Amino acid sequence: MRLTKATDIALRIAMYLAAQPPEREEPTTRTVADAMAVPYSHAAKVVARLRSLGVVETRRGAGGGLRITAAGRAVSLGRLVRQLEGVGDVVGCEEEPPCPLRTECRLRGALRRAQDAFYAALDPLVLEDLVAGSAGPILLGLGATRVNS
Ligand code: SF4
Repeated sequence: MRLTKATDIALRIAMYLAAQPPEREEPTTRTVADAMAVPYSHAAKVVARLRSLGVVETRRGAGGGLRITAAGRAVSLGRLVRQLEGVGDVVGCEEEPPCPLRTECRLRGALRRAQDAFYAALDPLVLEDLVAGSAGPILLGLGATRVNS
């Protein structure tokens, strides 16, 4: 199972923002994109998605930028990844043309259980867990120089 690129970028950005101390200047989308080594256009789309999920908020004006919300800090990683990925089969059983085996397929059930186990492993974690320990300082060291977007 492989996450979409958008989900990967969203998690990188969310971790980066979760690691920022409150006294630090809020990073812009451009700063975050550069720090996480992702194209600005991709980062902008992902930030919009994270905003719609209530994970990130933006402040306009001087000193404004992106920051993680309290809800974003506390969200279950499993829940967040499900929201970013969408629910559905790991493979396209119902896509056009639908798979002829889909009504009696035992592989489909096994893949569903594997998918459930994948998310269950993420469910107990929150963003704060991901930036604890040595990961936090490393994230803080990325993109320390602000670039205006
Ligand atoms: S073989 Fe089974 S799991 Fe694969 S596409 Fe068909 S129904 Fe889905």
